[in-house]
Amino acid sequence: MNSTATQPQTVAPPEAELISRNPATLEELGRAPISTTRQVNDAVARARAAQAAWASLSFKQRGAHILRAKDLLVQRQDDLCELIACETGKPTVEALSSEVMPVANLMDYFARKSERLLRDEQFTLSVFRNKKSRILYEPVGVAGIISPWNYPFSIPMGEVVMGLMAGNAVVLKPSEHTPLVGIQIGELFREAGLPDGVLQVLTGDGTTGGALADAAIDKIFFTGSVRTGRKIAEAAAQRLLPFVLELGGKDAMIVCADAPFERTINGALWGAFCNCGQTCASVERLYVVESIADRFIQAVVEKTKTLRVGYEGQQDIGPLNNSRQLQVVTEQIQDAVAKGAKILAGGRRIDGLPGYFFEPTILMNVNHSMRLMQEETFGPVLPIIVVKDEAEALREANDSSFGLLASVWTTDTRRGRRIAEQLEAGTILINDVIYTHGAPETPWFGVKQSGMGVTHSRHGLREFVRMKHINWDLMPMKSNLWWFPYSEKRHRDFKFLMTLLHKWGLKKWI
Ligand code: NAD
Repeated sequence: MNSTATQPQTVAPPEAELISRNPATLEELGRAPISTTRQVNDAVARARAAQAAWASLSFKQRGAHILRAKDLLVQRQDDLCELIACETGKPTVEALSSEVMPVANLMDYFARKSERLLRDEQFTLSVFRNKKSRILYEPVGVAGIISPWNYPFSIPMGEVVMGLMAGNAVVLKPSEHTPLVGIQIGELFREAGLPDGVLQVLTGDGTTGGALADAAIDKIFFTGSVRTGRKIAEAAAQRLLPFVLELGGKDAMIVCADAPFERTINGALWGAFCNCGQTCASVERLYVVESIADRFIQAVVEKTKTLRVGYEGQQDIGPLNNSRQLQVVTEQIQDAVAKGAKILAGGRRIDGLPGYFFEPTILMNVNHSMRLMQEETFGPVLPIIVVKDEAEALREANDSSFGLLASVWTTDTRRGRRIAEQLEAGTILINDVIYTHGAPETPWFGVKQSGMGVTHSRHGLREFVRMKHINWDLMPMKSNLWWFPYSEKRHRDFKFLMTLLHKWGLKKWI
């Protein structure tokens, strides 16, 4: 696929262009402008001007735009999958199963359910019996979204759809590694008839992202590395801009003695190597109990050697997306080997292929002093640690500054849930990995350094609104008991009320 992408409002000089390359062949796929601070500010002003009219539409009307865009997505699924595969390096089937299809599900879900998920709440108060409250959810206004390259379609699309359904105008800055997919997101909605200014896609690099964080937006939604997330939080703190951060992970997989054997091996392989290990929720640490360790590790190694790496025809694993990732993976493996790790499979860049291909790698004799066990790897590398029992596995799994997802593998669901309750992560899956990003009704979020705030589900949708609380009298009186003038009698009245409510226990009944 070879296309030169430009946006109508940005005519960039040649030196201010991104060159998008296929990481499998290193061929140029197309170019896109690096939007300037001025262009970012202009886009935010256009978004501000368009937002009120968009918010005045009903949920049904906004949902109709999303569903029209979904119809276009369905029609163009093959082209889109090809573009995603070319720009990221992932197999086309994975572009469909992990990006395009989950997005179609998500569009459907939020187009139809947002009204119910954001319905007003009304209630009478308990002590203040004469009062009633109503909670409304209003759009935040202009939402800025900054997204990464590893899921260049599904991550920004989820945020865009939720932002639009909640009544916001959205300005999206896709990753500099995948600008062409970002541009297609804008195209889908433009062709679906979204009013001008309601969604704008501004391609660019970190400077464009920084300009968006500094622009007159009302909330920023960032998905990316901890390093950049910290910069976003610092910029946002200067002006108390609310933010959501979806950051990196170092997800642990705990394999109990009674794990379903075949499923656990297949799950470990997919969890560690899908998208060439470049998933925030990739399995990056595997703890297996010693009673099954030998048999389990042997089976994992054998099956890893059957995985097909390449870019033409049927392959399981494509290349890493960029040279920086290749360097991180190589350095972490070197550090681990220098400290005593043993490579059981893979461990090298694949010669003879032009792009950033790396063999799926299994290591053991690893420990938590190694970079590989502390830092996010984001590559096709699975370090395995043999533990005495589940208690040791839990301690080791929680010994991390990250907390995105984790998984427990056992045929005893009660045991799985007991371990899950003690794991320090946003989501814990029993006998599965990663997949809940594709289930729009489930929340996606990290604890510790893996992030703040939530995406997907009604909790993620509510990140795109602000609450308004309205309160009124059922039967207005001349004055409230706690207003002026104060007196001895008023003091006695309050003391009596305290006794009535909290000593005699009337509070229990109201
Ligand atoms: P990154 O932090 O390098 O870049 C992310 C985005 O931020 C890009 O669009 C980039 O242009 C922009 N950016 C860079 N510098 C900026 C700045 N100073 N101000 C504003 N924006 C700036 O991350 P990446 O390499 O694109 O993505 C990989 C990372 O994302 C991994 O750590 C991965 O775990 C994480 N991730 C997390 C989730 C999640 O849901 N938690 C999902 C996907 C990826």
